Amino acid sequence: MSQSHGYMKALKCRECGREYPLAATHVCEFDFGPLEVAYDYDRIKKSLTRAVICSRPQTMWRYRELLPVAGEPTVGRQVGYTPLVKADRLAQRLGIRELWIKNDAVNYPTLSFKDRVVSVALSRSVELGFKTVACASTGNLANSVAANAAAAGLDAYVFIPSDLELGKVVNSLVYGANVIGIKGHYDEVNRLCAEIAGKYGWAFVNVNMRPYYAEGSKSMGYEIIEQLGWRVPEHTVVPMASGSLLTKVHKAYQEFIKVGLIEDTKWKMHGAQATGCSPISSAQKAGLDFFKPVKPNTIAKSLAIGTPADGFYSLKVMKETGGHADDVTDDEIREGIRLLAECEGIFAETAGGVTVGVAKKLIAAGKIAADSSAVLCITGNGLKTIEAMTGHVGATREIRPSLREFEALLAHDQPAMVAA
Ligand SMILES: *Cc1c(COP(=O)(O)O)cnc(C)c1O
Ligand SMILES: [Zn+2]
Repeated sequence: MSQSHGYMKALKCRECGREYPLAATHVCEFDFGPLEVAYDYDRIKKSLTRAVICSRPQTMWRYRELLPVAGEPTVGRQVGYTPLVKADRLAQRLGIRELWIKNDAVNYPTLSFKDRVVSVALSRSVELGFKTVACASTGNLANSVAANAAAAGLDAYVFIPSDLELGKVVNSLVYGANVIGIKGHYDEVNRLCAEIAGKYGWAFVNVNMRPYYAEGSKSMGYEIIEQLGWRVPEHTVVPMASGSLLTKVHKAYQEFIKVGLIEDTKWKMHGAQATGCSPISSAQKAGLDFFKPVKPNTIAKSLAIGTPADGFYSLKVMKETGGHADDVTDDEIREGIRLLAECEGIFAETAGGVTVGVAKKLIAAGKIAADSSAVLCITGNGLKTIEAMTGHVGATREIRPSLREFEALLAHDQPAMVAA
């Protein structure tokens, strides 16, 4: 294969295996199957060793042979390598031996895992000669496309449901992107974007650029393995919107085995959704291979996709690995956010509350064994979804700037302390 494509070989249909050139295209012309990037794993195996990885900067690009760019990345070069936090206090609360938080709430630059996929999609868009980038988003993707496009000098059009959280709207506008609010839910935004993408010569990161974009999620899986000391956790709990992240973390684990970086072990992939938008978890719990589309109604707006593009494939991965899915109510989402904050000092957005809440349920049900190791993927930052917690976190107690008033307050809380 030509050196000019880096380690990529072609785009390949997931259904029939037909190959396509490495262009901005995402569906097979014969069966409408999704296209996926195919790599030259033999060459990657020769180039990508643990020593090489460790010698590179601590960003997602330390695994660049396994990411779909032909040359050096040009957008989002600082993204990734977020902390993997040993969560002992949360482990105790949930009743599990070994628990880790993969904390993409502090990803660079826009505080969600979407910086990974956008960094790849925009780097590839630049390689393919695009000047304008776009996306259909539930919020975080819009933030990341807007920020990374600004830094790269690209024009951006981001399309979002018009009822998103204020933090996510402002976080797209501030970078000077064209932010289009659609009066409808995400699935309607996405349908419109498919029409627009067909008509204008733009790089739609999650439409015509989707094969490249989706591969960026694998970097979260590579990092988990490296940060755990080159091993795969027995259980990984992943929030699901389209279901793509879950399938790509699983693919990352498989690829590290394929290129000889780790031993082959067993693991289970578990999916987390909000009850108010649970097409994938409902299908998994019913033992079905296909989901039924739903109309979303949940505070977890970042996960509110009623017709998930990778729903079918995420169900397949859970089935193959023996994993489970579950979903949690809005109140359980808030409880999950509070648990993570109070135990580990990490303020996650609603999707994080979904992940923690579902992990709690799966551990309680014995679907994640108490004597095992688990990683929870925390994918976004709580400061962007303040509305979800407003009125649910207690209230500030106000006093005048007087020692007497403070001591009256303290005497009420802890009489012994004031007496001393
Ligand atoms: C987009 C998103 C997800 C899920 O992404 P998919 O790959 O579409 O399943 C999870 N968490 C957050 C915070 C997101 O923004
Ligand atoms: Zn096909």
